[in-house]
Order: sequence, then structure tokens, then C-alpha cells
Amino acid sequence: MTKHDLTLISATDGSELPQEPFPARHLIDGQWCESADGAAFERRSPAHGVLVTRAAQAGAKETEAAIAAARRAFDDGRWSQISGKERAALLLRVAELIERDLEQIALMETLESGKPISQAKAEIEGAADLWRYAASLARTLHGDSHNSLGSEMLGVVLKEPIGVASIITPWNFPFLIVSQKLPFALAAGCTAVVKPSELTPATTVILGELLLEAGLPAGVVNIVLGFGQPVGALMSTHADVDMVSFTGSTAVGKAIVAAASTTLKRVSLELGGKNPQVVFADADVDSAVDAIVFGIYFNAGECCNSGSRIIVHKDVAEEVTERVVALSRKVPFGDPLHADTKVGAIVSAEHQKKIDGYVKSAAQAGASIRLGGGPLTVPGLQEQFYQPTVLSGVTGDMAIAREEVFGPVLSVLEFSTFDEAVALANDAAYGLSAGVWSENVHTCLEFTRRVQAGTVWTNTWMDGFAEMPFGGVKESGLGRELGRYGLEEYLEVKTVQMRIGRTRAPWVPNR
Ligand code: NAD
Repeated sequence: MTKHDLTLISATDGSELPQEPFPARHLIDGQWCESADGAAFERRSPAHGVLVTRAAQAGAKETEAAIAAARRAFDDGRWSQISGKERAALLLRVAELIERDLEQIALMETLESGKPISQAKAEIEGAADLWRYAASLARTLHGDSHNSLGSEMLGVVLKEPIGVASIITPWNFPFLIVSQKLPFALAAGCTAVVKPSELTPATTVILGELLLEAGLPAGVVNIVLGFGQPVGALMSTHADVDMVSFTGSTAVGKAIVAAASTTLKRVSLELGGKNPQVVFADADVDSAVDAIVFGIYFNAGECCNSGSRIIVHKDVAEEVTERVVALSRKVPFGDPLHADTKVGAIVSAEHQKKIDGYVKSAAQAGASIRLGGGPLTVPGLQEQFYQPTVLSGVTGDMAIAREEVFGPVLSVLEFSTFDEAVALANDAAYGLSAGVWSENVHTCLEFTRRVQAGTVWTNTWMDGFAEMPFGGVKESGLGRELGRYGLEEYLEVKTVQMRIGRTRAPWVPNR
């Protein structure tokens, strides 16, 4: 414990910090390349301040070239027309290569994002599982047949790959999120242009290397490094792109919908959340408190699924709050490279200021800061850490209760009746996920039915499976990832109606 009464993990010996930055280049039509004008950008580790990556910075020229390569690769059938068995074999090879290089990928993920190394390793492992699961979908993909349209007809519904997919990802789970999209697109037979966040480009580039090593034909996956403007914007408007799959902020998601509307592309969006966990008076408080602490500090709260609002029955609100505060002090945070760390650095100084702004304005509006409430310097590291923070007395009208803070900041609200709990839970523009804690199955089921969310956890938080669809309602998104639904996003439906024999009565009598 330190003077802050928190569990701090000081800087490690730094032996894993890179001597040279990772050189990240674009992958266009099977070739690694710099930008024509030599433009580049850099990424420093948010925890250590060392230069981690130097990346080529694309302009319109590289983006156009990547889209053209994906278009050609789709249209000539080098991937879209091979068998599901062949596609599955490649996806399985990629899963093995990810597992082979897990340590290296996890280290880059930690250095670029600031997340704890143990968590990065678990994410890479989870990503490998997604590639493996998508392989199973590639082999079992099928349409429907209709054999009951009458003796003269047979109807067939074909599932076809939609075409070229633009895949745009955020910085908070870079390798996991690209793996929630790309293997599903490839399983469907699509080709892709991928743009990772400008804050975390390296691991997507490493994935590109693995795809080539696994034998993916040139042009099937292209990677363009750079910013929303012009790269992401062009990927969302270009006439040769058939769909955009985006994970990121709701504001950019709305801009993408507008941009994609000019050519009526399909758009699939995984956006922000303001996810409530509702704790009823009969809840198992030990389990709820642990899950609340996990839900708010996992990935330093920089998580679409962050359980950033807890809505607690007034009879247990004080007990739950005190126990959450006590447990929060025990959460080890500090150097992301230390094996014991559970909370790492905040992704950027700018984001740290935004988090602090929400906390300060909530305090001014009357909320009580029960723990934390400001940035913190971890010995030997950059000043880019934010204290585990708990605010009680938060009301539904405060910005901190409605907007995505994206930091280790928990808001506690109280309720008296079931209806009030549901109303508070639904009182947000977002609808990504929600949780309910009660020992009464009827309470859990009733809440599950009435809450507006794409995922509901009962007596648990943030479990996820490749088989289970994930996505949001309201302003949290459009469409679903994972499971069979995740594959459907990349498929188009073609209806085929076949007449059996020459039995059709003529439309125009021609005697
Ligand atoms: P962001 O929206 O700022 O950026 C995401 C990506 O979009 C980046 O690659 C960025 O370069 C690109 N981009 C920016 N402007 C663009 C434009 N005009 N056109 C096309 N692309 C553009 O988001 P972020 O800060 O990287 O990530 C955090 C956000 O992501 C949070 O809101 C979080 O909730 C959300 N998120 C959602 C999920 C989910 O599954 N629902 C998962 C993770 C993160």
C-alpha cells in the first residue's frame, strides 16, 4: 500500500522495452510498402513513454490502391470461389500461428495500448479461438432450400459473400476486435481492407504477416495504416467497397453511416456503451462486488462493456459502495509489463484529461467522490494513470451517468422499486450490455426482458464466447458480431426459383 492507500505496482526493470521501434507498413496486394510521399507517424508507450512503433501513414493514394486490390481479389474468385474446406484450412493455420507468436503479439499490444500483459495474453489467446471458430463456420456455411412450393418448383436461397469489406478498428482491444471481424469476413468469402487505430497499428501488421505466412492469396486482405481522415473516410465512401464493419465511438459510427449512405453500403457498427449493473437487495453481495470491480477496472475502464453505472437498491447501497471502495484499493495497478498488474495506463494524455473532466463536473454537480478522483503517478512511469475512482450520489441527469467516460470511474445510483431500476437502466442513449444481480430467478428474467441491451448478464459480468452474438441496440450499434450472426453480416442472400419441367401456363395465350 502507498500513501494513496492503493495497490501500486512500480516500474519493472524495463528489460522488455524495445530498443528499436516496430516498423509498420501497409500491406497492399500482398506487398509491404511505405507511403508514396514517405509520411509516417509514431506511437509511444503510454506507460513508459518509449517509442514503440513507427508506422507508414497512408493518404488517399494508398487507400485507393488497397481497395482496388481487394476488389480485384474478390472479383477474380481467388478467395470468394474456393471451397469452405480450403478457407477453413487457412483460418486454422492462422490460429496456430497466432498461438505460436502469442508472446510477441501480446507484448506489442501492451506497449501500444498500456494494458496489462496478462490481459493482453488472454486476449491474443481468445483471438486465436475466434479464428478457429470462424473456420468451423466456413465449413458449415449453407443456405436454404424450399421443397414445398408445389410440385413444379424448387426454391433455393444462396448465401454469397457480400464482396469487399472495409474493417475499421479502435485502440482498446486492437487484436481481439480485428479477430471479431476479419476471420468471419474471410469465412464468408469476402476480401478486406483493414485500418487499425492510429494509436495501435502494430499487432494488425503482425497479423498481416501471419496471413501471408499461412498462404492467404495476395490482395485478399489489405492493411492501410493511418487516420480517420482520409483513410477511414475513403474506406466508408468508396464505390468499390460493399460493406463497412466498424468498431469505435458512436460519433464516428454516425459519420460512417452518413458517408456510406452515398453508395448504400451495408454498415455494421459496434459502438459505445453506458452499461448498468443492477443490484437488488437479495443479491449475493460478495459476487456482485467482485464483478463490479472487475467490470469497471478491466482495461482501465477503456472498454465498450465497462460496467460504468451501478444501480443499487437503497437498502444495500451503502454496504455495496463501501465494499466496492475497499476492494478497489486492492486492485493492483501500475506497470503493464508486470505479471501481477490488473490495471495499466490510460491510452493518451488527452483521454486522461477527458476522464478527469467528467469526474470534476460530477463532483461540482453534487456527487461524492468516495475513492480516487484524479490522475496518479506510478513510480518510474509516465503520468498517464488514473486512480480507481468511485462516485456515489450520482443522479440520472449528470453527464457522468449518461455519457461514456471510458476510464476507471464508477458511478453509483440508487433505486427503490423494480420499475425504477428498469427505468434508470434504460435511461441512456446507449444499449450495449446490462447486468442484474439477484438470487431470485424471476427478478433476473423480468429484468432481462425489460432492459434495452444487446447482451444481458445475470449474476455475472462480461463473459463472452465465440458462439454467442455480441452487439448493441439504440446508439450502441447495428448488427452483431460472433456466433452465426457474425458470419451473416458478411453474406448476401440470393433467391433462386427453379421450374421443374415445362409446366408453366403461358401468360399470353398464343394459339
Ligand atoms: P474512434 O471512433 O475514435 O476511432 C475508431 C476508428 O475509427 C479508428 O481506427 C479511427 O482512426 C477511425 N476513424 C476516425 N474517424 C473516422 C472517420 N471519419 N471515418 C472512418 N473512420 C474513422 O474510437 P476509439 O477512440 O478508437 O475507440 C473507443 C470507442 O470504441 C469507444 O466509444 C468504445 O465504446 C468503442 N468500442 C466499442 C466496442 C463494441 O464492440 N461495441 C468495442 C470496443 C470499443
